[in-house]
Amino acid sequence: MLSGWLEEANRISVMTGAGVSTESGIPDFRSSRGLWTEDLSRTEVMSRSYFMSHPEKFWFYFKEIFQTKLSSQHLPNRGHLFLKRLEELGKDVSIFTQNVDGLHEKAGSGKVYNMHGSIQTAACPECGASYGLDHIHEEDVPRCSSRTETGEKCGTILKSDVVLFGDFVQHMEEIYSSVDQSDLLIVMGTSLEVYPVNQIPKDFRYRGNKKMVLINREPTRLDHLFDLVIHDSIGDTVDETEQCMKKARQ
Ligand SMILES: [Zn+2]
Repeated sequence: MLSGWLEEANRISVMTGAGVSTESGIPDFRSSRGLWTEDLSRTEVMSRSYFMSHPEKFWFYFKEIFQTKLSSQHLPNRGHLFLKRLEELGKDVSIFTQNVDGLHEKAGSGKVYNMHGSIQTAACPECGASYGLDHIHEEDVPRCSSRTETGEKCGTILKSDVVLFGDFVQHMEEIYSSVDQSDLLIVMGTSLEVYPVNQIPKDFRYRGNKKMVLINREPTRLDHLFDLVIHDSIGDTVDETEQCMKKARQ
């Protein structure tokens, strides 16, 4: 069924979450464990308010939590590559991801919107200067190295460009207009627990006659909204789908 819908669709919107990257060896932020010396949850530490009150400790925890992603050694997997190949078949594909690992870009997808920001960069809250991974890694606590007009170093502790709890999720306008213009919405590897992302399938359920597909290993509370629900591995699902598409073309 999915292969037929993909063949028919011209414009496709895709929402992806942590489940898309597990096959690349990247653990789910919510289910992975770390070393914790204090009685703090990850969601508390990865919040805007914690960064504002404890910027130095924030960076310590941030680097611990994201160390595997910061290493940037991971490769795109079957799921990412499948979405890239849809473009090669002439489909207009827009990907809205909650992941910060950059693997859709690495796979070569052209239109990727990082709803939860980027782990690759950080910016100075004071002067706005932007820095890449090299600078972020240089010191335990990365600081702004640009000079003020009087020649002094700015020195402010940088803020990661990852969206923290309490920050605004990015590209919400783009996702609404993209889904509005798409024939098909595919949600992959997300349990749709987090607001406002989980609002999108709800809003589109009764708008127009676009098809909505969910591919996720575990059932979600929003399964009933979708025309097609697949509780299986993303890699296996896209492999089978691609086989069907090839057969149909022969
Ligand atoms: Zn600065």
